[in-house]
Amino acid sequence: MMMNKGLLIVVSAPAGCGKDTILESAFKACNNLHYSVSATTRAPREGEGNGVHYFFKTREEFTQMIENNELLEHTEYAGNLYGTPREYIPKMLEAGKNVVLKIEVEGAANIRKLFPDCVLVFILPPSFDELERRLRKRGTETEETIKKRVGIAKIEMSFVKNYDYVIINANLEDAVKDFTSVVRAEGLSTKHGIPVIN
Ligand code: 5GP
Repeated sequence: MMMNKGLLIVVSAPAGCGKDTILESAFKACNNLHYSVSATTRAPREGEGNGVHYFFKTREEFTQMIENNELLEHTEYAGNLYGTPREYIPKMLEAGKNVVLKIEVEGAANIRKLFPDCVLVFILPPSFDELERRLRKRGTETEETIKKRVGIAKIEMSFVKNYDYVIINANLEDAVKDFTSVVRAEGLSTKHGIPVIN
């Protein structure tokens, strides 16, 4: 059977929605998911590794990457720069690998323009109160950043209509099932190409 190209799955979610936890379980459940690691000027959080969670850069290094045309898209979010490296995604898709991109709404819209076939998934918290509670519980952010991030989350909501799928993370197990179902169904969809059999 001729192999299809991989799927590009773009996941956006307000901070504190449980996106990383959902994806971690989904990666264990599906054997063909690969992260595109972004570059950022944000300081690493505890437990984050360079080249694993992000490529951590100074503002100067990041600006140099933009000038060298090394990024597919980039944006500023809550005072830090974030960008998607240019080479990884097309190389992986060509090799039949499914790539997951965790980026915010503006970046997602730009990626859709570059890769019209990509699958856009938005993850929502059950409520804004719950979102604020989860952010506070995480304990990695200052009170000011928490307020800023909840404010951003409210603005991001208006972009949900641009997405193909919305998953509400009220229950982790269900949200993981929802996500893996999307990946599975999209993998079978003829809109991404028709497998050739002998
Ligand atoms: P965090 O600081 O919580 O890791 O990420 C903040 C926001 O930036 C999240 O919404 C995350 O998805 C987004 N983000 C991470 N990497 C990229 C990227 O390469 N491009 C864009 N546009 N957003 C990104």
